[in-house]
Amino acid sequence: MIRTRHDHLHALKTQTFDLLVIGGGITGVGVALDATARGLRVALIEKGDIASGTSSWSTKLVHGGVRYLEQYDFPMVREGLRERHTLIHIAPYLVRRLSFLYPVKGGPLGKAFVDSGLWLYDLLAGRRALGLHHRVGRAEEAREAPLKAPWDGGGFSYYDSQTDDARLALAVMLTAVERGAVAATYTEVTDLIKEDGRVVGVHVRDTLAARDLRTGPEGAADVGGAAGPVFLVRARTVVNATGVWMGHIQRMDADGGIKAQVVPSKGAHIVVPFDRLPIKTAVIMPETSDGRVLFAVPWQGRVVVGTTDQEYRGDFDRPTATDAEVDFILANANDYLETALTRDDIIATYAGLRPLIRIQDTTVSGGQDPGGRNQPGGEPSTGTKDLSRNHVVLSSPSGLVSIGGGKLTTYRLMAHDAVEAALKATGLEAPRRADTSTLRLTGTPGYHELSRHARALGAHYGTTPAVARHLLDRYGAHALAVLELIAARPALAAPVVPSLGYVMAEAVYSARHELVTTLEDILARRMRLNLLDEEHGTGVAHRIAELVAPELGWDEAWIVAEVARYRDYAHMAEGGGYRRDGRDGRDGRDAAARETVAVAR
Ligand SMILES: Cc1cc2nc3c(=O)[nH]c(=O)nc-3n(C[C@H](O)[C@H](O)[C@H](O)COP(=O)(O)OP(=O)(O)OC[C@H]3O[C@@H](n4cnc5c(N)ncnc54)[C@H](O)[C@@H]3O)c2cc1C
Repeated sequence: MIRTRHDHLHALKTQTFDLLVIGGGITGVGVALDATARGLRVALIEKGDIASGTSSWSTKLVHGGVRYLEQYDFPMVREGLRERHTLIHIAPYLVRRLSFLYPVKGGPLGKAFVDSGLWLYDLLAGRRALGLHHRVGRAEEAREAPLKAPWDGGGFSYYDSQTDDARLALAVMLTAVERGAVAATYTEVTDLIKEDGRVVGVHVRDTLAARDLRTGPEGAADVGGAAGPVFLVRARTVVNATGVWMGHIQRMDADGGIKAQVVPSKGAHIVVPFDRLPIKTAVIMPETSDGRVLFAVPWQGRVVVGTTDQEYRGDFDRPTATDAEVDFILANANDYLETALTRDDIIATYAGLRPLIRIQDTTVSGGQDPGGRNQPGGEPSTGTKDLSRNHVVLSSPSGLVSIGGGKLTTYRLMAHDAVEAALKATGLEAPRRADTSTLRLTGTPGYHELSRHARALGAHYGTTPAVARHLLDRYGAHALAVLELIAARPALAAPVVPSLGYVMAEAVYSARHELVTTLEDILARRMRLNLLDEEHGTGVAHRIAELVAPELGWDEAWIVAEVARYRDYAHMAEGGGYRRDGRDGRDGRDAAARETVAVAR
């Protein structure tokens, strides 16, 4: 298995691949794994880190989508429910069952309506249901998730599941790499190479080499300049899995004859401390002021509250939650929750762009769109709430295959359809068939057995059962390798930040084994400090950079530049202006974090 970025780049420059994937979000990594499992030689090119696009900004649900029942898109809901079952099986340490409260106001008619919808949801899941929904009385609701009138009269409990989106994508990519795939992060496709009208490769820019080492804290905003070495990568077929950037790649395929519009649909979330919103179950808030659904979901010791479905026209690279979106979330959540949330409660905000597809004219395969909303002649839509979540595969005459739409939950099916289309486009025969529904992701084999012995593991490796549990739940069976780091160097059992479960050893493990290239990769996606830590990880950025420097070959100048770049990045988590309410820091916020805010402004 190739481990270093240097080796991945070398392979990229020297080999010809059967299939090359552009984009390392959940869709692209899924394509890479599907194709690798079929015995194809595969490379993936990602302009940032794995899951640095939409795939780390989701609500983190693996679900059929109760709210999609309203669109009468039952096949899509059933598909999501099947995938939920599959993902719990192939990645049990990353995808877990979660109970949801569906509150109901009003009389028996409203209750009967919701009850029948949830019956349908259970039926669509069939034997894969995670438990049947049931009625929740006023007292139980008050215990599980205290709501206020008119929502405090009880409702229904139903089940779905939850993940860490960035780690799920990483696990899929690592599973492909273990099987021989090449994965080059911080490499951007700048053009397609064509011979006789067919795409036979891509031009790639090494965006990391373009970084200016002289970038100090004041110059942090200048990171990643436009220059950088460009090289060619050859492949028999190319799959465009770039999410909301799909159109950029299609425009490189000038005579591709594809007319499909990516409609970015923005969603924004706030993250609040669990003690301010102590809900023991996720809550779906079905009626908001503009008709969208709001979720409050306990996640990694915090609670994520947010919504999706706002048409968006801004910058794709760094979407942030706006003032208005934060106001919307707070006002609507406060219509339901007994605890009145204010801007002072917010730890972080984030926003993501869902790549919905509106088809105008092309060769389409895969996915389904029973409502016809994505088809030529379908109902035009200005909002995105009514656009279908079904995925579409687009094959251009040049052989370029583009895959878009869909959900985190259905990445495996999207990947299958894209690889099928790519094989068809080139006439390539895969050496073998593969069924990724039974291909357990890295870290899964051995996880259940180790899980039963978390307490003993902690004692054996000189740490606590809580640390062992935390590691098992994040790395699966690879927790053993992290525990071994702790046994060899007990100081690595120290917490990264006091209020979260992360330990220092994780940074070292990630730097060695998890395709890490930058400090941001570690702090924001291997750990999720940008979202979970009140300082967004800026307070520990320098310490972590120094810890991993020997692993990644960083000298002092590079450490300083990495910390500055991370501080600039972490500022995104302060979108929505919630710090402007006269609060420029919470208790315990250190000087480094205050400096970050000052620099970034
Ligand atoms: C707010 C929100 C909440 C959501 N919640 C859920 C949920 O709870 N459950 C669920 O199932 N789904 C959810 N979704 C949907 C899901 O997150 C997306 O469908 C999914 O993450 C899209 O993945 P992707 O790989 O297609 O796109 P991305 O994750 O954006 O990946 C595309 C990648 O391509 C890279 N790229 C772009 N251009 C280039 C280039 N030229 N060269 C190299 N690389 C390039 C980008 O850097 C990016 O990493 C949510 C979406 C949003 C917006």
